[in-house]
Order: sequence, then C-alpha cells, then structure tokens
Amino acid sequence: MTQDTYTAVDPTEMVGHLTPRQYARLERAIDTARTLVPWLYAAGHITTEQGGRTKRAEAPLPIPATWVAAHTIDDLLNRLQPWDDLRDAAADLQGQWLCRCLWQEVESAARNWPTEEKPHKVVYVRCRQCQRLALEWQPPQYAGDDIRVVCTVCGHLETPEMVAWDARLVIDEHARH
Ligand SMILES: [Zn+2]
Repeated sequence: MTQDTYTAVDPTEMVGHLTPRQYARLERAIDTARTLVPWLYAAGHITTEQGGRTKRAEAPLPIPATWVAAHTIDDLLNRLQPWDDLRDAAADLQGQWLCRCLWQEVESAARNWPTEEKPHKVVYVRCRQCQRLALEWQPPQYAGDDIRVVCTVCGHLETPEMVAWDARLVIDEHARH
C-alpha cells in the first residue's frame, strides 16, 4: 500500500485524518462499491486487460479473482460499520486506514473490471426459481435505470443484491470443502 502524503491544506478543512480531497475520494468509492460489488459477484471469471494473462472460463480456479476483489471490498465495508458516520471513521487511526484501503480496492477493481454495457451471463450462481445456471446480468437501459438479473430459462427476475448474496453462499460453501 502506498502511503499518501498529506497535502498542506487549511487544517479546519480536514476530515479527521483525511484531506477534503481524500474524503471525497472515499465517498466516491463507497458510491461505486454499491453497483461494483454485485457486478463482481455476477461476473465470475472475466479476463482483465492488465497482466495479459488469459484465464479461460473453464479454468478450474476455485474462486474467480472478481470474487476475491468483491469479498475484500465487502470485508472493508463491514469493518467500517462500527462507525456510525464516515467522518468518525476518518477521525480514527484505524478507521482512516480502512478508508484508504477501501478506496484503493474499489478504484483498482473498477479499473480491472469495469461494469459491462452489454448483457453478461452469470456464472456459478443459480436461479432461485428454477435452480439452473441461466441468469443473465443486464446493464441499465438508460441513465437512472436499474440493473436487472433475469433467468433466461424461466424468466425469473432477481436484483444484483440477490445474486451477490447467493454468490457469498457459494463462496462459503466452497470454503468448507
Ligand atoms: Zn430460472
């Protein structure tokens, strides 16, 4: 982790240990995480531009890199829960460190796996209705539209949050074996 240097700003503008710019970065990261985390769970194995390693979908990797990233972000968000207000977290030594980890994780995941603008087949997570691996992640059709996850077999409609939840169950299941 790279150490940020504090820029000289008016001390009254600091939010705890964070500069106003860093605080804005934190807020942006949390906002991005809202759509990014469910996407990462839905995406499963997808290749990244970076690194040039071609991981094919049939690769027997136990857990996709996208899930590891989603899980890390989830975990950081959970660890920030004890602070009612982000400002309180920013004012705490441990809290501000978690904040920095969070925005770095979110920014790097968003860079590696930007949410797609075309429909994407969901891997590993089954339809809650018909239990088949047939879910499709569908991007918003227009600004302000919702992301939908639709079963291509039975037409069942799910939210990205439902898929994210089920993906966590698959990960837990996997971790037990
Ligand atoms: Zn179905």
